[in-house]
Amino acid sequence: MTESALVLFSGGQDSATCLAWALARFDRVETIGFDYGQKHIVEMDCRQTILQKIGQLQTNWEARLGDDHLIDLGILGQISETALTQDMAIAIAENGLPNTFVPGRNLLFLTLASAVAYRRGIRHLIGGMCETDFSGYPDCRDDTMKALQVTLNLGMDKRFVIDTPLMWLDKAATWQLAAETGGTPLVDLIIEDSHTCYTGDRSQRHAWGYGCGQCPACALRANGYEKYLTSTQNIAGRSE
Ligand code: ZN
Repeated sequence: MTESALVLFSGGQDSATCLAWALARFDRVETIGFDYGQKHIVEMDCRQTILQKIGQLQTNWEARLGDDHLIDLGILGQISETALTQDMAIAIAENGLPNTFVPGRNLLFLTLASAVAYRRGIRHLIGGMCETDFSGYPDCRDDTMKALQVTLNLGMDKRFVIDTPLMWLDKAATWQLAAETGGTPLVDLIIEDSHTCYTGDRSQRHAWGYGCGQCPACALRANGYEKYLTSTQNIAGRSE
């Protein structure tokens, strides 16, 4: 039986790693992206570049990579008041959550993805949600994903599976997963063409890729890359 998957693909490090993870496992892989008025809209260009290049990394990936679905979710930007969708500084709100949290975002993303998957006959929904480095976002929790899976299956009378390969990985382990899945070419593609920085800055190139180097997303990505490099060097050192 051929198994198909729909990857929530934003153009960032996490979802690019998930896309490769899916291409290594499923016969048909489609992608879905959302334009919700994010300030780092540059990630939309990055995702196109990655979609054009990632198929060439392994022999069967090009054939597996199917349609890309781009969803206009401007309504989410209109109803939310966050540092990702409005011109305000990133800060911790009174409730202890960073104001980069977009309420309902992942819930909406997965609900819309399941509607597309329903139409396309796809069973697996794949997202880069992560509880380890998750900035406290409650919609990245494993329990949220499991509850949503139950809800979607009840509401559509389906057996969707929500896969979250990064759920228990930290950012260093996410770099490691990319290396294991697609080798150095995939790590290089993620460094050069994925976008994580909340401010949308692509004017500064660091060892770990492009970004302002200051925002929480850049800090996570940079620290993870540093830790990944150190552990890789340790392994190489031991085997010599
Ligand atoms: Zn940044």
